[in-house]
Amino acid sequence: MAEDKKGIGIMGGTFDPIHNGHLLTAQCAAYQHNLEKVIFVPSGNPPHKTEKKITDAQERYVMALLATMSNPIFDVSRIEIDREGLSYTVDTVREFKKIYPDRKIYFITGADAILEIFTWKNPEKLLEETEFIAASRPGYCLSQLGQKIYDSYRETIHPLQIPGLAISSTDIRARVEEGRPIKYQLPESIEAYIKKHNLYR
Ligand code: ATP
Ligand code: MG
Repeated sequence: MAEDKKGIGIMGGTFDPIHNGHLLTAQCAAYQHNLEKVIFVPSGNPPHKTEKKITDAQERYVMALLATMSNPIFDVSRIEIDREGLSYTVDTVREFKKIYPDRKIYFITGADAILEIFTWKNPEKLLEETEFIAASRPGYCLSQLGQKIYDSYRETIHPLQIPGLAISSTDIRARVEEGRPIKYQLPESIEAYIKKHNLYR
């Protein structure tokens, strides 16, 4: 029966680079919701005219692979990287629902991302189609979601309190650029990869 099958977690992000905040969030979500696995989905290369410079998708993908390698319930998908043009979360979720038709799909985000969700394409549709696990993140307040949204989507948005890690990819990139340490903020393999490939300098 479908109810007996474990859920699948989807963790989308730029992962530029992947860090311990992402890994801890995924692990806590998997434990709390008894997920069979969490699939990390690095975003594709942005179309030419975006304001922010993002590291090439292939490098972000390799870093995600390295960081998740030792965890048997973590996986990485190329679904957005291999897709032409902009990726929308709703399309990604639909593809995973096709791959796992009898599983509950959970989209895992941090508090900042869930607060942004209402600016995404088809947010209501997305909330109808998939459940969200919204993890706490230092500096963002989950309760800002508003009572109205919580009331409407009580069954769909699952808040998750995790031990806060005030780590962000933006801060890591700035640290590398300025020659400050990033140790213990991300796996050693990623630190080594960043050094070897001269990223963020
Ligand atoms: P950037 O600073 O470049 O935006 P980021 O650290 O926010 O990077 P993203 O790739 O944007 O990382 O985030 C992917 C997902 O992981 C988002 O849902 C985000 O909310 C969540 N996330 C990232 N860092 C943390 C953290 N420290 N605690 C909880 N959730 C996090
Ligand atoms: Mg972010």
